[in-house]
Amino acid sequence: FKMYLQPQISAKTRRLTGAEALVRRIKPDGTIISPIDFIPVYEKSGLISRLDRYIWEQAAAKLGEWKKAGINMSISVNISPKDFYYIDIFNTFAGLIKKYDIEPSNLKIEITETTIMSDVPNLMGELEELRKAGFTLEMDDFGSGYSSLNTLKDMDVDVLKIDMGFLRTTKPEHLERSMKILNMIISLSKMLGLSVITEGVETQEQVVKLSQMGCGIYQGYYFSKPI
Ligand code: C2E
Ligand code: CA
Ligand code: CA
Repeated sequence: FKMYLQPQISAKTRRLTGAEALVRRIKPDGTIISPIDFIPVYEKSGLISRLDRYIWEQAAAKLGEWKKAGINMSISVNISPKDFYYIDIFNTFAGLIKKYDIEPSNLKIEITETTIMSDVPNLMGELEELRKAGFTLEMDDFGSGYSSLNTLKDMDVDVLKIDMGFLRTTKPEHLERSMKILNMIISLSKMLGLSVITEGVETQEQVVKLSQMGCGIYQGYYFSKPI
């Protein structure tokens, strides 16, 4: 298993601000397997927690290397809902910060609406503890679930990662509607004091539109694939 990093670019400076850690499985013959093909299986068996913990450690180690080199950038890691059952999330992250002597604000934590909606005991308490300790919480795939606005009401996060579905529509005549919704979400985020990352940015045209709407950070193939 290997950690790939997908660059995130600041809309304001047009420079790199950080990256998302995305796992890849490398077979002995060099074939690369996408996480979409093994994560669901690992989530069923609970093995996901070992894999996630490994990737978080890789991310923390990389941040440690960067810090020594004087590079101040962030890495966002993914958390599966299952992790909350198998891992003491708070102590694991706090331990990584200590071990690699890094800033908690640079190790960002991505949780999905599905995680928030799941009935993990004391989930909110645990997330609140992480925020108090200086970690940044990002709501991943925002707008793809069944109750996005409802989750936002009850959930203190720092960043919304807008689902790439808004940039792709099945019918071309729906694109304008989609752009209006996107615009509304970005305005709403600002009202709530949240930063916005848009994922799946693939064209210059999307970059122009998103910067007009006030999106702060871009992530997508237009800038770079996970590398
Ligand atoms: P995600 O967290 O929503 O990650 C974004 C996915 O979108 C990544 O797919 C990325 O490669 C892809 N992507 C980025 N920019 C573009 C673009 O411009 N166009 C298109 N079409 N796609 C783009 P990837 O790496 O295949 O990961 C798929 C999903 O697997 C992730 O979705 C995440 O839910 C999960 N995943 C990946 N790594 C981990 C991990 O370490 N732990 C856990 N629990 N889940 C992971
Ligand atoms: Ca993610
Ligand atoms: Ca996402």
